[in-house]
Amino acid sequence: MEKIVSLAKRRGFVFPSSEIYGGFGSCYDFGPLGVEMKNNIKKAWWDEMLKKHEDIVGLDAAILMSPKVWQASGHLTAGFADELVECKKCHHRFRLDEIQNSQCLECGGELIKSRKFNLMMKTFVGSVENEATLTYLRAETCQGIYVNFKNVLQTMRLKIPFGIAQIGKAFRNEITPKDFIYRTREFEQMELQWFCAPKTADKFFDYWKKERINWYLNLGIKKADLRVKEVPKNELPHYAKRALDIEYKFPFGWKEIEGVHNRGDWDLSNHSRNSGEDLKYEGYFPYIIETSVGVDRSLFAFLCDAYIEVSGGRTKTTKATKEVETMLKFHKSLAPIKVAVLPLVKNKPAIIKKAEEVYQILKPHFNCQYDETDSIGRRYRRQDEIGTVFCLTIDFESLEKNDLTIRNRDTMKQERVKIKNIKECLEKLL
Ligand code: ATP
Repeated sequence: MEKIVSLAKRRGFVFPSSEIYGGFGSCYDFGPLGVEMKNNIKKAWWDEMLKKHEDIVGLDAAILMSPKVWQASGHLTAGFADELVECKKCHHRFRLDEIQNSQCLECGGELIKSRKFNLMMKTFVGSVENEATLTYLRAETCQGIYVNFKNVLQTMRLKIPFGIAQIGKAFRNEITPKDFIYRTREFEQMELQWFCAPKTADKFFDYWKKERINWYLNLGIKKADLRVKEVPKNELPHYAKRALDIEYKFPFGWKEIEGVHNRGDWDLSNHSRNSGEDLKYEGYFPYIIETSVGVDRSLFAFLCDAYIEVSGGRTKTTKATKEVETMLKFHKSLAPIKVAVLPLVKNKPAIIKKAEEVYQILKPHFNCQYDETDSIGRRYRRQDEIGTVFCLTIDFESLEKNDLTIRNRDTMKQERVKIKNIKECLEKLL
Protein backbone atom coordinates (compact mmCIF):
# COMPACT_ATOMS: atom_id res chain seq x y z
CA MET A 1 0.00 0.00 0.00
CA GLU A 2 2.76 2.45 0.97
CA LYS A 3 4.64 1.67 -2.24
CA ILE A 4 1.56 2.30 -4.37
CA VAL A 5 0.72 5.56 -2.61
CA SER A 6 4.30 6.71 -2.97
CA LEU A 7 4.45 5.79 -6.66
CA ALA A 8 1.13 7.55 -7.25
CA LYS A 9 2.56 10.76 -5.76
CA ARG A 10 6.06 10.50 -7.22
CA ARG A 11 4.90 9.87 -10.77
CA GLY A 12 2.02 12.35 -10.90
CA PHE A 13 -1.06 10.18 -10.46
CA VAL A 14 -2.47 11.46 -7.16
CA PHE A 15 -1.50 14.38 -4.90
CA PRO A 16 -2.96 15.26 -1.49
CA SER A 17 -5.28 18.26 -1.88
CA SER A 18 -3.97 21.67 -0.74
CA GLU A 19 -0.67 20.02 0.10
CA ILE A 20 1.32 23.24 0.55
CA TYR A 21 -1.14 24.16 3.34
CA GLY A 22 -0.75 20.80 5.02
CA GLY A 23 -3.45 18.95 3.09
CA PHE A 24 -7.21 19.02 3.47
CA GLY A 25 -9.48 16.45 5.11
CA SER A 26 -9.01 13.47 2.85
CA CYS A 27 -9.40 15.21 -0.47
CA TYR A 28 -7.07 14.31 -3.31
CA ASP A 29 -6.05 15.90 -6.60
CA PHE A 30 -5.37 13.87 -9.70
CA GLY A 31 -2.09 14.78 -11.37
CA PRO A 32 -1.23 14.73 -15.08
CA LEU A 33 -1.15 10.92 -15.27
CA GLY A 34 -4.04 10.47 -12.84
CA VAL A 35 -6.39 12.63 -14.87
CA GLU A 36 -5.53 10.71 -18.06
CA MET A 37 -6.22 7.43 -16.32
CA LYS A 38 -9.45 8.71 -14.84
CA ASN A 39 -10.60 9.86 -18.28
CA ASN A 40 -9.71 6.44 -19.70
CA ILE A 41 -11.77 4.68 -17.01
CA LYS A 42 -14.72 6.97 -17.60
CA LYS A 43 -14.50 6.44 -21.36
CA ALA A 44 -14.30 2.65 -20.92
CA TRP A 45 -17.44 2.76 -18.75
CA TRP A 46 -19.33 5.18 -20.97
CA ASP A 47 -18.56 3.17 -24.11
CA GLU A 48 -19.53 -0.04 -22.34
CA MET A 49 -22.91 1.43 -21.44
CA LEU A 50 -23.79 3.51 -24.48
CA LYS A 51 -21.98 1.86 -27.36
CA LYS A 52 -22.50 -1.75 -26.36
CA HIS A 53 -26.17 -1.27 -25.49
CA GLU A 54 -28.83 0.25 -27.75
CA ASP A 55 -31.24 1.07 -24.96
CA ILE A 56 -29.07 3.24 -22.71
CA VAL A 57 -28.84 7.02 -22.93
CA GLY A 58 -26.67 9.51 -21.04
CA LEU A 59 -27.37 12.39 -18.69
CA ASP A 60 -25.40 15.10 -16.89
CA ALA A 61 -27.54 16.52 -14.08
CA ALA A 62 -26.50 19.39 -11.79
CA ILE A 63 -24.71 18.73 -8.51
CA LEU A 64 -26.99 21.19 -6.72
CA MET A 65 -30.63 20.18 -6.55
CA SER A 66 -33.73 21.24 -4.67
CA PRO A 67 -33.48 20.08 -1.04
CA LYS A 68 -36.92 18.54 -1.59
CA VAL A 69 -35.17 15.84 -3.63
CA TRP A 70 -33.13 14.77 -0.59
CA GLN A 71 -36.18 14.90 1.65
CA ALA A 72 -38.01 12.54 -0.69
CA SER A 73 -35.06 10.22 -1.22
CA GLY A 74 -34.65 9.57 2.50
CA HIS A 75 -31.17 11.12 2.66
CA LEU A 76 -32.12 13.72 5.26
CA THR A 77 -33.64 11.19 7.59
CA ALA A 78 -32.12 8.14 9.20
CA GLY A 79 -31.61 6.49 5.82
CA PHE A 80 -28.32 8.19 5.07
CA ALA A 81 -26.60 8.36 8.40
CA ASP A 82 -23.72 6.41 9.84
CA GLU A 83 -23.80 5.12 13.39
CA LEU A 84 -21.08 7.02 15.22
CA VAL A 85 -19.24 6.75 18.54
CA GLU A 86 -16.96 9.38 20.08
CA CYS A 87 -14.00 9.05 22.45
CA LYS A 88 -14.54 10.81 25.77
CA LYS A 89 -10.85 11.66 26.02
CA CYS A 90 -9.51 12.61 22.58
CA HIS A 91 -12.92 13.19 20.88
CA HIS A 92 -11.97 11.07 17.90
CA ARG A 93 -15.02 9.74 16.06
CA PHE A 94 -15.46 6.24 14.67
CA ARG A 95 -18.06 4.38 12.69
CA LEU A 96 -19.76 1.83 14.89
CA ASP A 97 -18.84 -0.96 12.49
CA GLU A 98 -15.12 -0.17 12.97
CA ILE A 99 -15.08 -0.70 16.72
CA GLN A 100 -14.14 -4.14 18.02
CA ASN A 101 -14.51 -3.38 21.74
CA SER A 102 -15.55 -0.29 23.66
CA GLN A 103 -12.11 1.39 23.53
CA CYS A 104 -10.92 4.27 21.37
CA LEU A 105 -8.75 3.05 18.48
CA GLU A 106 -6.53 6.15 18.83
CA CYS A 107 -5.89 6.53 22.57
CA GLY A 108 -7.65 3.60 24.24
CA GLY A 109 -10.07 6.00 25.96
CA GLU A 110 -13.69 5.30 26.78
CA LEU A 111 -16.25 5.66 24.00
CA ILE A 112 -19.48 7.59 24.38
CA LYS A 113 -22.68 5.89 23.25
CA SER A 114 -23.52 5.87 19.57
CA ARG A 115 -25.58 8.40 17.67
CA LYS A 116 -26.54 8.93 14.05
CA PHE A 117 -24.45 11.25 11.93
CA ASN A 118 -25.81 12.47 8.60
CA LEU A 119 -23.34 12.41 5.72
CA MET A 120 -24.92 15.10 3.54
CA MET A 121 -22.76 18.20 2.98
CA LYS A 122 -24.61 21.42 3.55
CA THR A 123 -24.33 24.53 1.47
CA PHE A 124 -26.32 27.73 0.89
CA VAL A 125 -27.58 28.86 -2.47
CA GLY A 126 -28.10 32.60 -2.82
CA SER A 127 -26.95 35.66 -0.92
CA VAL A 128 -28.49 34.86 2.48
CA GLU A 129 -27.51 31.99 4.71
CA ASN A 130 -30.66 30.67 6.34
CA GLU A 131 -33.01 27.66 6.39
CA ALA A 132 -34.64 28.82 3.18
CA THR A 133 -31.41 28.83 1.17
CA LEU A 134 -29.98 25.66 2.68
CA THR A 135 -29.33 22.81 0.30
CA TYR A 136 -26.87 19.95 -0.07
CA LEU A 137 -24.13 18.78 -2.36
CA ARG A 138 -25.43 15.58 -3.91
CA ALA A 139 -24.38 12.45 -2.06
CA GLU A 140 -25.03 10.23 -5.06
CA THR A 141 -25.53 11.01 -8.70
CA CYS A 142 -28.60 8.83 -9.25
CA GLN A 143 -31.18 11.25 -7.81
CA GLY A 144 -30.55 13.50 -10.81
CA ILE A 145 -31.55 10.58 -13.00
CA TYR A 146 -34.78 9.81 -11.12
CA VAL A 147 -36.04 13.38 -11.21
CA ASN A 148 -35.33 13.47 -14.95
CA PHE A 149 -36.99 10.11 -15.63
CA LYS A 150 -39.99 11.64 -17.41
CA ASN A 151 -37.93 14.22 -19.34
CA VAL A 152 -35.65 11.53 -20.73
CA LEU A 153 -38.45 9.04 -21.41
CA GLN A 154 -40.45 11.57 -23.39
CA THR A 155 -37.70 13.40 -25.26
CA MET A 156 -35.98 10.20 -26.35
CA ARG A 157 -39.25 8.30 -26.99
CA LEU A 158 -37.99 5.32 -25.02
CA LYS A 159 -39.78 2.13 -24.05
CA ILE A 160 -39.15 0.11 -20.94
CA PRO A 161 -36.73 -1.56 -20.37
CA PHE A 162 -34.10 1.16 -20.83
CA GLY A 163 -31.22 2.69 -18.93
CA ILE A 164 -29.87 6.13 -18.07
CA ALA A 165 -26.12 6.42 -17.46
CA GLN A 166 -24.37 9.25 -15.67
CA ILE A 167 -20.89 10.12 -14.46
CA GLY A 168 -20.34 12.88 -11.94
CA LYS A 169 -19.12 14.13 -8.60
CA ALA A 170 -20.69 13.16 -5.30
CA PHE A 171 -19.90 14.37 -1.78
CA ARG A 172 -20.21 12.66 1.58
CA ASN A 173 -19.07 13.98 4.91
CA GLU A 174 -17.48 10.62 5.74
CA ILE A 175 -16.61 10.29 9.42
CA THR A 176 -13.58 8.13 8.85
CA PRO A 177 -12.21 8.73 5.39
CA LYS A 178 -9.20 6.49 4.95
CA ASP A 179 -7.11 4.16 2.86
CA PHE A 180 -5.86 6.78 0.40
CA ILE A 181 -8.45 7.38 -2.32
CA TYR A 182 -10.63 4.45 -1.23
CA ARG A 183 -12.91 6.54 0.97
CA THR A 184 -12.86 10.28 0.39
CA ARG A 185 -15.27 13.13 0.98
CA GLU A 186 -15.41 14.19 -2.66
CA PHE A 187 -15.46 11.49 -5.31
CA GLU A 188 -16.86 10.64 -8.69
CA GLN A 189 -19.48 8.01 -9.47
CA MET A 190 -20.46 6.17 -12.62
CA GLU A 191 -24.02 5.04 -12.28
CA LEU A 192 -26.47 3.18 -14.48
CA GLN A 193 -30.15 3.21 -13.60
CA TRP A 194 -32.00 0.50 -15.51
CA PHE A 195 -35.78 0.92 -15.58
CA CYS A 196 -37.77 -2.27 -16.04
CA ALA A 197 -41.07 -4.00 -15.38
CA PRO A 198 -41.22 -5.39 -11.81
CA LYS A 199 -41.46 -9.02 -12.88
CA THR A 200 -38.28 -8.72 -14.99
CA ALA A 201 -36.20 -7.14 -12.18
CA ASP A 202 -34.58 -10.39 -10.97
CA LYS A 203 -33.56 -11.34 -14.50
CA PHE A 204 -31.97 -7.94 -15.11
CA PHE A 205 -30.28 -7.95 -11.71
CA ASP A 206 -28.45 -11.14 -12.70
CA TYR A 207 -27.70 -9.74 -16.15
CA TRP A 208 -26.13 -6.56 -14.79
CA LYS A 209 -24.17 -8.43 -12.15
CA LYS A 210 -22.49 -10.49 -14.90
CA GLU A 211 -21.99 -7.50 -17.17
CA ARG A 212 -20.29 -5.51 -14.46
CA ILE A 213 -17.95 -8.31 -13.39
CA ASN A 214 -16.96 -8.87 -17.00
CA TRP A 215 -16.16 -5.19 -17.40
CA TYR A 216 -13.42 -5.46 -14.76
CA LEU A 217 -12.10 -8.74 -16.15
CA ASN A 218 -11.98 -7.33 -19.68
CA LEU A 219 -9.96 -4.40 -18.36
CA GLY A 220 -7.37 -6.73 -16.92
CA ILE A 221 -8.39 -7.17 -13.28
CA LYS A 222 -7.36 -10.65 -12.17
CA LYS A 223 -10.24 -13.03 -11.50
CA ALA A 224 -8.73 -14.03 -8.16
CA ASP A 225 -8.83 -10.40 -6.99
CA LEU A 226 -12.55 -9.98 -7.55
CA ARG A 227 -15.51 -11.45 -5.67
CA VAL A 228 -19.19 -10.86 -5.16
CA LYS A 229 -20.84 -10.48 -1.78
CA GLU A 230 -24.60 -10.69 -1.49
CA VAL A 231 -25.77 -8.16 1.12
CA PRO A 232 -27.80 -9.95 3.84
CA LYS A 233 -31.45 -8.87 4.17
CA ASN A 234 -30.91 -7.21 7.57
CA GLU A 235 -28.07 -5.03 6.19
CA LEU A 236 -29.84 -3.81 3.05
CA PRO A 237 -29.80 -0.04 2.45
CA HIS A 238 -33.17 1.66 3.02
CA TYR A 239 -34.03 1.76 -0.69
CA ALA A 240 -33.01 -1.76 -1.72
CA LYS A 241 -34.91 -4.99 -2.21
CA ARG A 242 -31.70 -6.83 -3.04
CA ALA A 243 -28.06 -5.72 -3.15
CA LEU A 244 -24.66 -7.11 -3.85
CA ASP A 245 -21.18 -5.68 -3.53
CA ILE A 246 -18.50 -6.36 -6.10
CA GLU A 247 -15.38 -6.51 -3.96
CA TYR A 248 -11.73 -6.11 -4.85
CA LYS A 249 -8.81 -7.54 -2.91
CA PHE A 250 -7.07 -4.31 -1.86
CA PRO A 251 -3.77 -4.37 0.07
CA PHE A 252 -5.89 -3.67 3.18
CA GLY A 253 -8.40 -6.45 2.50
CA TRP A 254 -11.51 -7.26 0.48
CA LYS A 255 -13.53 -4.08 -0.01
CA GLU A 256 -16.48 -2.93 -2.10
CA ILE A 257 -15.76 -1.22 -5.39
CA GLU A 258 -19.22 -1.37 -6.90
CA GLY A 259 -22.78 -1.94 -5.76
CA VAL A 260 -25.53 -3.59 -7.78
CA HIS A 261 -28.96 -2.87 -6.33
CA ASN A 262 -32.55 -3.74 -7.01
CA ARG A 263 -34.17 -0.51 -5.79
CA GLY A 264 -37.70 -1.68 -6.55
CA ASP A 265 -40.11 1.23 -7.05
CA TRP A 266 -38.73 3.15 -4.04
CA ASP A 267 -37.38 6.08 -6.02
CA LEU A 268 -40.07 6.74 -8.61
CA SER A 269 -42.96 6.19 -6.20
CA ASN A 270 -41.38 8.46 -3.56
CA HIS A 271 -40.63 11.23 -6.05
CA SER A 272 -44.13 10.88 -7.47
CA ARG A 273 -45.72 11.23 -4.05
CA ASN A 274 -43.52 14.13 -2.98
CA SER A 275 -43.50 16.12 -6.21
CA GLY A 276 -47.07 15.49 -7.29
CA GLU A 277 -45.79 14.50 -10.75
CA ASP A 278 -47.03 11.17 -12.05
CA LEU A 279 -43.91 9.12 -12.76
CA LYS A 280 -45.73 5.93 -13.70
CA TYR A 281 -45.17 4.18 -16.98
CA GLU A 282 -48.22 2.44 -18.52
CA GLY A 283 -49.90 2.56 -15.12
CA TYR A 284 -47.10 1.17 -12.94
CA PHE A 285 -43.89 2.36 -11.30
CA PRO A 286 -40.93 0.76 -13.06
CA TYR A 287 -38.41 -1.08 -10.90
CA ILE A 288 -34.83 0.13 -10.99
CA ILE A 289 -31.69 -1.96 -11.18
CA GLU A 290 -28.73 0.21 -10.32
CA THR A 291 -25.03 -0.34 -10.86
CA SER A 292 -22.87 2.19 -9.02
CA VAL A 293 -19.09 2.45 -9.02
CA GLY A 294 -16.65 5.09 -7.86
CA VAL A 295 -14.20 6.36 -10.49
CA ASP A 296 -11.56 7.03 -7.83
CA ARG A 297 -12.12 3.73 -6.05
CA SER A 298 -11.96 1.72 -9.28
CA LEU A 299 -8.84 3.67 -10.34
CA PHE A 300 -7.27 2.58 -7.06
CA ALA A 301 -8.19 -1.04 -7.79
CA PHE A 302 -6.78 -0.83 -11.33
CA LEU A 303 -3.61 0.71 -9.91
CA CYS A 304 -3.19 -2.04 -7.30
CA ASP A 305 -3.89 -4.79 -9.79
CA ALA A 306 -1.41 -3.46 -12.33
CA TYR A 307 1.39 -2.99 -9.78
CA ILE A 308 4.17 -5.59 -9.94
CA GLU A 309 7.77 -5.80 -8.87
CA VAL A 310 10.26 -7.74 -10.96
CA SER A 311 13.63 -8.75 -9.62
CA GLY A 312 16.49 -10.29 -11.52
CA GLY A 313 16.60 -7.59 -14.15
CA ARG A 314 14.19 -7.41 -17.06
CA THR A 315 16.50 -4.94 -18.72
CA LYS A 316 19.64 -7.05 -18.58
CA THR A 317 21.99 -4.67 -20.33
CA THR A 318 21.69 -1.82 -17.86
CA LYS A 319 23.55 -1.01 -14.69
CA ALA A 320 20.22 -1.08 -12.95
CA THR A 321 19.96 -4.84 -13.32
CA LYS A 322 20.33 -5.55 -9.64
CA GLU A 323 17.54 -3.26 -8.56
CA VAL A 324 13.96 -4.41 -8.19
CA GLU A 325 11.99 -3.09 -11.14
CA THR A 326 8.51 -1.64 -10.59
CA MET A 327 5.91 -1.90 -13.31
CA LEU A 328 2.32 -0.92 -13.85
CA LYS A 329 0.91 -3.52 -16.20
CA PHE A 330 -2.19 -1.54 -17.11
CA HIS A 331 -4.63 -2.69 -19.73
CA LYS A 332 -3.66 -0.72 -22.85
CA SER A 333 -6.92 1.24 -22.83
CA LEU A 334 -6.36 2.46 -19.25
CA ALA A 335 -2.65 3.30 -19.49
CA PRO A 336 -2.25 7.08 -19.18
CA ILE A 337 0.68 7.17 -21.61
CA LYS A 338 0.45 4.94 -24.67
CA VAL A 339 3.76 5.68 -26.35
CA ALA A 340 7.19 7.03 -25.39
CA VAL A 341 9.57 8.34 -28.02
CA LEU A 342 13.21 7.83 -27.05
CA PRO A 343 16.30 8.83 -29.03
CA LEU A 344 19.00 6.23 -28.28
CA VAL A 345 21.59 8.89 -27.50
CA LYS A 346 21.41 12.55 -26.69
CA ASN A 347 24.58 13.79 -28.35
CA LYS A 348 23.76 12.96 -31.95
CA PRO A 349 21.69 15.82 -33.46
CA ALA A 350 20.46 13.71 -36.41
CA ILE A 351 18.98 11.14 -34.01
CA ILE A 352 17.37 13.81 -31.85
CA LYS A 353 15.90 15.46 -34.95
CA LYS A 354 14.39 12.20 -36.18
CA ALA A 355 13.00 11.38 -32.75
CA GLU A 356 11.37 14.80 -32.57
CA GLU A 357 9.83 14.21 -36.00
CA VAL A 358 8.34 10.91 -34.81
CA TYR A 359 7.02 12.60 -31.67
CA GLN A 360 5.31 15.31 -33.73
CA ILE A 361 3.70 12.69 -36.01
CA LEU A 362 2.26 10.75 -33.08
CA LYS A 363 1.44 13.45 -30.53
CA PRO A 364 -1.92 14.53 -32.00
CA HIS A 365 -3.15 10.92 -32.04
CA PHE A 366 -1.83 9.22 -28.90
CA ASN A 367 -0.84 10.23 -25.40
CA CYS A 368 2.91 10.44 -25.91
CA GLN A 369 5.98 11.30 -23.89
CA TYR A 370 9.34 12.35 -25.28
CA ASP A 371 12.36 11.54 -23.13
CA GLU A 372 16.07 11.95 -23.89
CA THR A 373 17.69 12.02 -20.44
CA ASP A 374 19.62 9.10 -18.87
CA SER A 375 20.58 5.76 -20.35
CA ILE A 376 18.08 3.99 -22.57
CA GLY A 377 17.68 1.25 -19.93
CA ARG A 378 16.76 3.81 -17.27
CA ARG A 379 14.27 5.42 -19.61
CA TYR A 380 12.59 2.06 -20.39
CA ARG A 381 12.25 1.48 -16.67
CA ARG A 382 10.78 4.92 -16.06
CA GLN A 383 8.17 4.19 -18.71
CA ASP A 384 7.46 0.69 -17.34
CA GLU A 385 6.91 2.25 -13.94
CA ILE A 386 4.01 4.35 -15.26
CA GLY A 387 2.68 1.58 -17.49
CA THR A 388 3.51 3.09 -20.91
CA VAL A 389 2.42 0.50 -23.44
CA PHE A 390 5.08 1.00 -26.14
CA CYS A 391 8.52 2.58 -26.27
CA LEU A 392 9.85 3.72 -29.65
CA THR A 393 13.60 4.02 -29.97
CA ILE A 394 15.38 5.90 -32.69
CA ASP A 395 18.95 4.62 -33.15
CA PHE A 396 21.84 4.88 -35.64
CA GLU A 397 20.26 2.40 -38.01
CA SER A 398 17.10 4.56 -38.05
CA LEU A 399 19.08 7.29 -39.82
CA GLU A 400 19.83 5.01 -42.77
CA LYS A 401 16.63 3.00 -42.88
CA ASN A 402 14.06 5.55 -41.75
CA ASP A 403 12.73 3.17 -39.17
CA LEU A 404 12.64 2.68 -35.39
CA THR A 405 12.26 -0.11 -32.87
CA ILE A 406 9.01 -0.61 -31.08
CA ARG A 407 9.28 -2.24 -27.67
CA ASN A 408 6.35 -3.99 -26.03
CA ARG A 409 6.14 -3.26 -22.26
CA ASP A 410 5.02 -6.74 -21.24
CA THR A 411 7.04 -9.01 -23.55
CA MET A 412 9.95 -6.57 -24.03
CA LYS A 413 10.07 -7.80 -27.62
CA GLN A 414 11.50 -5.27 -30.03
CA GLU A 415 10.64 -5.00 -33.70
CA ARG A 416 11.72 -2.60 -36.41
CA VAL A 417 8.97 -0.59 -38.08
CA LYS A 418 9.26 2.00 -40.86
CA ILE A 419 8.56 5.51 -39.60
CA LYS A 420 6.00 6.06 -42.36
CA ASN A 421 4.00 3.10 -41.03
CA ILE A 422 4.31 3.78 -37.29
CA LYS A 423 1.03 5.66 -36.81
CA GLU A 424 -0.98 2.93 -38.52
CA CYS A 425 0.96 0.25 -36.66
CA LEU A 426 0.19 1.83 -33.26
CA GLU A 427 -3.45 2.35 -34.17
CA LYS A 428 -3.72 -1.39 -34.80
CA LEU A 429 -1.85 -2.38 -31.65
CA LEU A 430 -3.71 0.00 -29.35
P1 ATP B 1 -19.27 2.22 1.55
O1 ATP B 1 -20.01 1.10 2.26
O2 ATP B 1 -17.86 1.86 1.15
O3 ATP B 1 -19.39 3.55 2.23
P2 ATP B 1 -21.58 2.52 0.02
O4 ATP B 1 -22.18 1.16 0.10
O5 ATP B 1 -22.12 3.62 0.84
O6 ATP B 1 -20.00 2.42 0.18
P3 ATP B 1 -22.76 3.28 -2.44
O7 ATP B 1 -23.59 4.32 -1.82
O8 ATP B 1 -23.41 2.03 -2.90
O9 ATP B 1 -21.55 2.95 -1.48
O10 ATP B 1 -21.91 3.95 -3.59
C1 ATP B 1 -21.54 3.26 -4.77
C2 ATP B 1 -20.08 3.35 -5.05
O11 ATP B 1 -19.60 4.69 -4.94
C3 ATP B 1 -19.19 2.56 -4.10
O12 ATP B 1 -19.13 1.22 -4.46
C4 ATP B 1 -17.86 3.27 -4.28
O13 ATP B 1 -17.20 2.78 -5.43
C5 ATP B 1 -18.26 4.70 -4.48
N1 ATP B 1 -18.14 5.43 -3.21
C6 ATP B 1 -19.07 5.56 -2.24
N2 ATP B 1 -18.62 6.31 -1.22
C7 ATP B 1 -17.35 6.66 -1.55
C8 ATP B 1 -16.34 7.44 -0.91
N3 ATP B 1 -16.54 8.02 0.27
N4 ATP B 1 -15.14 7.60 -1.53
C9 ATP B 1 -14.92 7.03 -2.73
N5 ATP B 1 -15.84 6.30 -3.39
C10 ATP B 1 -17.04 6.11 -2.82
